Amino acid sequence: MKLIIATSNPGKLKEMQEYMLKDIWELQLKPETLEIEETGQNFTENACLKASQVAKILGEWAIADDSGLAVDALDGAPGLYSARYGKTDHDRITRLLSELGDNPNRLAQFICAIAIARPDGTIALQTEGICQGKILYQPMGTGGFGYDPIFYVPQLAQTFAQMPPEVKREISHRGQAFKQLLPQLEKMFN
Ligand code: IMP
Repeated sequence: MKLIIATSNPGKLKEMQEYMLKDIWELQLKPETLEIEETGQNFTENACLKASQVAKILGEWAIADDSGLAVDALDGAPGLYSARYGKTDHDRITRLLSELGDNPNRLAQFICAIAIARPDGTIALQTEGICQGKILYQPMGTGGFGYDPIFYVPQLAQTFAQMPPEVKREISHRGQAFKQLLPQLEKMFN
C-alpha cells in the first residue's frame, strides 16, 4: 500500500518508515515543487491540511504529521512555532531556556498529530500523541534532535537525548500517535 508523505524531507520519511512496516506501507516523498502552507491553529489542523492537500492534488493516499513542544509556563510556546523558534537547534534551546529563566514550573509536553487522507482529500484517520516531561535548566545528552537535550522524562529519569533511540521511539509523542494509528489503518484496509 503506497502512501505519499506530505514532506520533501528524506529524514522525515526515514523516521516515519521506522514506525510502519516497509513491506506493507510504502512511503513516498511528495514532489518538492508542491508546497503546502501550515495555516492551521493547532497540530491536528496542520496535519490534516497537509495530508488532505497532498492527497487531493496527487490523487493518492497521503500521510502527514505535525509536532512540537508546548511549555506550560510559556503559555504553550514554542508550540506551532517549534521549528521556527530559532535558526538552529542550539539557538532554539538557548531561546527557550532564556525565556523560561528560573521559573520553577518546568512542565512541558511534546505533541504529535498524524493524519491520513484519501485520494479525494477527505480525512480517513487522525491521531494525536502526547509525551509529558519537564524542561531542564541545562541540556543533557547528545542523541536525538531538536529540543531533545532539555526534555526530561521523569519516569525514565532521562532526557530524550539520553535515551536509546528505541526507547524514545516507544514512549515519545510520535510513538504514541503511531500506536493509535496503526491498528486503525490496518483495520481500514482489511
Ligand atoms: P515538524 O513536525 O517537522 O514541523 O517539527 C516541529 C519541530 O518541533 C521540530 O523542528 C523540532 O524543533 C520540534 N520537535 C518535534 N518533535 C521533536 C522531538 O521528538 N524531539 C525534539 N524536538 C522535536
